[in-house]
Amino acid sequence: MSALPRQWVTVLGSTGSIGVSTLDVIARHPERYRVYALTAHTSKEALLDQCLAHHPQVAVLDSDADAEWLRRALEGAGQSTAVRAGHEALCQVAREACVDAVMAAIVGAAGLMPALAAAEAGKRVLLANKEALVMSGALFMQAVERAGATLLPIDSEHNAIYQCLPAVHRGGLERYGVRQLLLTASGGPFRTWGAEEIAKVTPDQACAHPNWSMGRKISVDSATLMNKGLELIEACWLFDATPEQIQVVVHPQSVIHSMAAYTDGSVIAQLGNPDMRTPIAYGLAWPERIDAGVETLDLFQVARLDFEAPDEARFPCLRLAREAMQTGGAAPAILNAANEIAVEAFLAGTLGFEAIAKVVAQVLALPYAGNADTIENVLAADQWARQQAVEQLGRHSRS
Ligand code: NAD
Ligand code: MG
Repeated sequence: MSALPRQWVTVLGSTGSIGVSTLDVIARHPERYRVYALTAHTSKEALLDQCLAHHPQVAVLDSDADAEWLRRALEGAGQSTAVRAGHEALCQVAREACVDAVMAAIVGAAGLMPALAAAEAGKRVLLANKEALVMSGALFMQAVERAGATLLPIDSEHNAIYQCLPAVHRGGLERYGVRQLLLTASGGPFRTWGAEEIAKVTPDQACAHPNWSMGRKISVDSATLMNKGLELIEACWLFDATPEQIQVVVHPQSVIHSMAAYTDGSVIAQLGNPDMRTPIAYGLAWPERIDAGVETLDLFQVARLDFEAPDEARFPCLRLAREAMQTGGAAPAILNAANEIAVEAFLAGTLGFEAIAKVVAQVLALPYAGNADTIENVLAADQWARQQAVEQLGRHSRS
């Protein structure tokens, strides 16, 4: 058992897939962790259940009305959790002085400012919200450095690479003898489908991932391979890599979570069952290791590992993301915002699956004069791209 004082943890997006897995790991180690704050957007019933189980100091919902509902329900149950509402409250529970670690697991651009608040406050930042780095990678990494925050990637691929690299890995891959990062991808549920079949897929088909159980937005991103594109950008910022130094490898079994290839020919991989509790436990306990509730990988059961190159003709989102990173400036934020709008429309049944990439490509092709040098400029690019994407939706609309 650890002799260290218990750590206070804020879980942003606690009712989501990553949030629930985080609370599962935390509950296995009551001697190490205490929940400071739990937050959700609109899932007030789920948040109530979590408050009753984990007794946080603070709970945050988006609307005043939902917060009032939760306040009454908690009072009725005799619990003293403070309830707050709104975006600023999310940033506040991320930067609160007593908080040691923040799990950033809100989905999409909505998670940027709270994650950044945690970084600016010098916390241990467990970053699941990849969109934050895609939108504002340079600013985010600067904030981490300036505040002396500890940034631990939770995205399974990046967590794997982190485990395969030396402890200090800033200043370019070459400095520590790494030739390439090998970012594995399951290929999603339509890996073997033809282009015509892919054009007809439904939201439920896209959300039925073969190996991982995740929120709906990231499930669609996995199916288009935009998720791998966002992860390529995320890896560039986390590990000081260029897009050319990252090779995407389709590996349908999702057992190797990613690899680092060294100049001497060594390739180091991290393997495990596809369960997000492993990277979450790693992030919580680093540099120690704790039980995550995950079984050791049974290699006899796995039996074989397959690898293939990604098909960017059927899955153009990966190429779009790489090109946006090569363009730099506000392009990744524009890519991300256009994708969020397109995925939302697809999930609502108003946009075809194959049109997601088209909307993103069309928005990226429009001239944009702004940059991503300040957080205000990043948010302006995000807003601009959302408006442009909404206009493009009309051209592809199903209804
Ligand atoms: P999810 O949809 O299951 O959960 C999202 C959480 O964020 C919920 O608690 C929701 O209430 C909250 N939320 C949504 N919109 C919000 C808003 N506007 N304001 C405040 N809170 C809001 O998503 P998830 O699958 O848990 O993914 C969360 C993040 O982690 C994403 O950025 C995703 O890319 C990343 N990630 C997820 C997985 C996975 O296995 N699920 C793996 C790697 C990375
Ligand atoms: Mg991932």
